[in-house]
Amino acid sequence: MSRVRELFETMEYGPAPEDASLAKQWIESHDGIFGHWIDGQWSQATQHFESINPATEKKLAAIGQGLDADVNAAVSAARNALKPWQELGSNGRARCLYGLARQVQKHARMLAVLETLDNGKPLRETRDVDVPLVARHFYHHAGWASVLDSEMPNTSAYGVIGQIIPWNFPLLMLAWKVAPALAAGNTVVLKPAEYTSLSALYFAELTQNAGLPSGVFNLVTGAGETGRTLASHGDVDKVAFTGSTQVGREIRTLTAGTDKGLTLELGGKSPFLVFADADVDSAIEGVVDGIWFNQGQVCCAGSRLLVQESISDTFLSKLKQRMKTLRIGNPLDKTTDMGAIVSQSQLKNIQSYIDGAKKEGASCWHTETPLPESGWYFHPTLVTDVFSAHTIMTEEVFGPVLAVMTFRTHKEAIEIANNTRYGLAASIWSENINLSLDVASKIKAGVIWINSTNEFDAASGFGGYRESGFGREGGREGLWAYRKSLSDLPPDDQPPASAVAPVVANPTSALDKTSKLYIGGRQVRPDSGYSRGVAAYDGSLIGTVGEGNRKDIRNAVEAAHGASKWGSASAHHRAQVLYFLAENLEIRADEFSQRLEMITGTDGDLQVKESINRLFFYAGWCDKYEGTVHQPPLGRVVFAVPEPVGVMGLICPERDALLGLISLIAPAIALGNTVITIPSESGALVATDFYQILETSDIPAGVVNIITGARPNLASEIARHNDVDGLWCAGHRAMTAEIERLSVGNLKQTWALSGDRNWLDASVGQGTEFLRRATQFKNVWAPYGE
Ligand code: NDP
Repeated sequence: MSRVRELFETMEYGPAPEDASLAKQWIESHDGIFGHWIDGQWSQATQHFESINPATEKKLAAIGQGLDADVNAAVSAARNALKPWQELGSNGRARCLYGLARQVQKHARMLAVLETLDNGKPLRETRDVDVPLVARHFYHHAGWASVLDSEMPNTSAYGVIGQIIPWNFPLLMLAWKVAPALAAGNTVVLKPAEYTSLSALYFAELTQNAGLPSGVFNLVTGAGETGRTLASHGDVDKVAFTGSTQVGREIRTLTAGTDKGLTLELGGKSPFLVFADADVDSAIEGVVDGIWFNQGQVCCAGSRLLVQESISDTFLSKLKQRMKTLRIGNPLDKTTDMGAIVSQSQLKNIQSYIDGAKKEGASCWHTETPLPESGWYFHPTLVTDVFSAHTIMTEEVFGPVLAVMTFRTHKEAIEIANNTRYGLAASIWSENINLSLDVASKIKAGVIWINSTNEFDAASGFGGYRESGFGREGGREGLWAYRKSLSDLPPDDQPPASAVAPVVANPTSALDKTSKLYIGGRQVRPDSGYSRGVAAYDGSLIGTVGEGNRKDIRNAVEAAHGASKWGSASAHHRAQVLYFLAENLEIRADEFSQRLEMITGTDGDLQVKESINRLFFYAGWCDKYEGTVHQPPLGRVVFAVPEPVGVMGLICPERDALLGLISLIAPAIALGNTVITIPSESGALVATDFYQILETSDIPAGVVNIITGARPNLASEIARHNDVDGLWCAGHRAMTAEIERLSVGNLKQTWALSGDRNWLDASVGQGTEFLRRATQFKNVWAPYGE
């Protein structure tokens, strides 16, 4: 009797364990030993490693260690399958993707159980979140396969894609990578994380049931070394990576100068902002989902809680009460809220962050809920008394640890939120929609959830700003990551002939005027004190320009940051400025034409005319390159907004000095970026003439900065600068390879494009490809309804 009363009072759940025998039987059907899935069949592995159940520390299976020969065989199978896969046509591919979605649904429970066994996450999550999202991803992309030809004309598939994924959402990450790649007409070789290969291995068998032709999907399991072999394989056309920022850097370096496509979905340290007018109880549930979902092993986990000071005491005390009710234990139990941490080494990592936080003076609090005796478990933990510079506030812990700070004003909230090198996600809690949207627009992150958190849908892009990587997964933006624009020509093998026009260092000729650099709206002398000669087509000296150096680049970057309001100016205003620029260039068309003729020996009229047209073209685009509104299931809208990349370096082509310059500046500034421009060396005088046009065209100071000098050196300086967000380099391969290698500091977005293309030809010299590269999508989720 007293037991019944007790039950009513505590409302405790009884145990509800899931039966894992079918999953274990499947493992047994392989004798507990797995090879790789290559060309539609199992291939034996010669070496193996163990996959362990984190909840019990017991061995689940022996997984194949992918060696060079396995990666070679898989890449070659994917290459051979490419043509037949593409010849299958959009409907044929759509049917296969639809078949995969159906297979995932038919085997949903098996997949969920396997995932829970292998990863340690609660079955409630694998069953209700991971697997349904996986099915949704394949359905959504089956649709993309059908409509691709009409929706993405003038594009082609990349070819063979090497895909590398982490352990925190093994099957979901597989779906996020495989579904768009196949829908876009590519074939793939996937390497799952060492800790969690089982659901991918099961999925491999499902591909056969779904009728996927052999070789279209290949799976090579293994350690980081297998991933490295795949990423550096000469016959892989693109690498798509999800994982840590550290490994992302390594992959950026490995692929530099190879013409391989690259997308990086990396880590985060996402803020979770609670304003005083928030619905506190909802926000508390949001925090639980934001940081304790999947034991906090979530790239977009809201691991930095920022609470408005006036409610912080109440909020934290309610949060502690709620934490005490979290059920930690057997992940196969359907009533479990938090399961096990994926591995012992990850558990130690988390503990070392807590130890470090304490040493730095933070207070750490956790619930006293007893943890299971075996398995790798960690208490949900709250860290207070921290400052922005504390390691626990800056580094990704990747565990159930929430660091808390307070703020007073909404301006301060935004400052703290943006005080991170990452930019993956943010969650904003306030009943004031005006405030929420304003904060959403100012936070530098790829995904923002208003009064919600950890929402995902296949139609809405997911991905980060800054060191959280580049590229998106999901929706149209995600599909772009697997299609190449036919006008996007790769960098040139050699510098064009005009680049070797003779230049004279520090000339002392009768030319008394040296054109200066253009920084922050002013003409300034180069820091070096040196200038360089610019030759006419016949080799005679026609003028001198400043020899820019590192210091000038730094000044220009500072000026470009100072002009960031340009990005929030109305698109209409930016269009007006670009039209005015075109008009002013037209007024001085003859002068520019003569200058070009002097440099090239050929008539410059056409280039000037086309430059004016190009300015008109991008002025027209300013208020038309817009976002979209997604309507995911369950009472949410998602505003997908293209935002400027930020401060961009533009290494202009050597050829077509004026048109090349304008072809890069115009799309970048049309969409709100501010730029540091390195013009053609042989045509540098054209660029210095051009800033006189800028001065009379209402372009705010600092929006366009022009540094003349040695292009490769200046390009390297920009690539090294950690406050530059994007870099386009229209040049030869040696230069673009170097800038890609140097860009790893802050993982800036780079675009290596052919400078020697025919810029006069609008089909390759302009277009939405440039606009796409000048923007990054922010997806803002907002709930509606009672
Ligand atoms: P890692 O970067 O360590 O590993 C990711 C994958 O890369 C694994 O398959 C790993 O293999 C492989 N790998 C390791 N070293 C190399 C290498 N040198 N070359 C090529 N591949 C390599 O990340 P974790 O698996 O630890 O995952 C956690 C990280 O992933 C977190 O930082 C998290 O934020 C991020 N993440 C980002 C997401 C996003 O969408 N932005 C989503 C999910 C996670 P192995 O397993 O054998 O080490």
